[in-house]
Amino acid sequence: MSTAAIKVTNLYRYFGPLKAVNGISFEIPHGSVCGFVGANGAGKTTTMRILASLDYPTMGSAEICGINVVHHPEEVRKLIGWMPDHFGNYEHMTVVEYLDFYARAFGFSGKERRDRVREVMEFTDLVTLADRFSNKLSKGMTQRLCLGRALLHDPQVLIMDEPAAGLDPKARVELKHLIRVLAQEGKTIFISSHILSELGEMCDSLLFVNGGRIVHHGDAEALKQGTDSMGGMLFDVQLLGAPQTLSDWCAVHPHVEFLESRKTGGRIRIESTDLDRAAEVLSRMIKDGLQVVEFHKEQRNLEDAFIDMLGRIDRGEGALPTAPASTSTEIVP
Ligand code: ATP
Repeated sequence: MSTAAIKVTNLYRYFGPLKAVNGISFEIPHGSVCGFVGANGAGKTTTMRILASLDYPTMGSAEICGINVVHHPEEVRKLIGWMPDHFGNYEHMTVVEYLDFYARAFGFSGKERRDRVREVMEFTDLVTLADRFSNKLSKGMTQRLCLGRALLHDPQVLIMDEPAAGLDPKARVELKHLIRVLAQEGKTIFISSHILSELGEMCDSLLFVNGGRIVHHGDAEALKQGTDSMGGMLFDVQLLGAPQTLSDWCAVHPHVEFLESRKTGGRIRIESTDLDRAAEVLSRMIKDGLQVVEFHKEQRNLEDAFIDMLGRIDRGEGALPTAPASTSTEIVP
């Protein structure tokens, strides 16, 4: 399969004067998990609803497995499983009746329909709740039911809008496990969340959106390994001997700044984004007689990386210096 599982090209969605989605383009390859991140009102739900063929773009195109969502919505709906951020369930309908109702709507009948409902209930651990009224479930159970509904027709692509919102830690772990299993089965998963650390663990790539524009598309590791807001790298250095030797050394070396002492060393900042430069600094320290026993680059958490990125946008600064070739960063003033 050569075409991307999800391909969005110059997509716009205006609500009157409001540019909810303002010219975004991105591709998600088959079998990968992509996290969609942005502040409230950034345009995530609007984008996802267009991909799910529930809304029309003002301009631009969106495709699922090469099929245009506007021109062929019926085809697209066969390929996607949609988990909205809010979903209604029906009073006086049990879990099994609810899933059976949707299985009929997907066109399954007879044994095949009963098998699909059973398989989905087993996968989402709803078997023991089969006869429970669907409007009397906890939030975690409700999300599992919603996921089950989205999986009935075994879609290739799953679009999940804030599936973990409002879940307690145990329910979040369970949901994360189900998403991991689906990813291992080769499904393409596009998932929005405000819980960045969780997305980082689960996703092959993260798509950051702000004010209807994509500001970064890259892997979580690259963001964590990123630079500080001034384009420098931070290192923790541990030594045998007094931390003073490290601060004295930094004082006479340009482009290396001593930031703070630690019990057996300190934090330094190297004014570069190039790891070769870091290797040179380490090598020079050792040649100069510093007994370095540990030298490691500090990782930022994803929240810091995101806030940092938004700060750059507010200041109208250029692209992030560390975005690797496979990722893209567009800074929009
Ligand atoms: P959240 O994280 O809060 O769910 P979001 O990133 O999903 O936010 P959207 O729901 O896509 O954001 O909304 C983007 C902007 O478009 C918001 O300002 C929202 O108020 C507006 N908007 C969304 N749908 C409509 C609509 N049908 N009519 C008018 N404005 C809308």
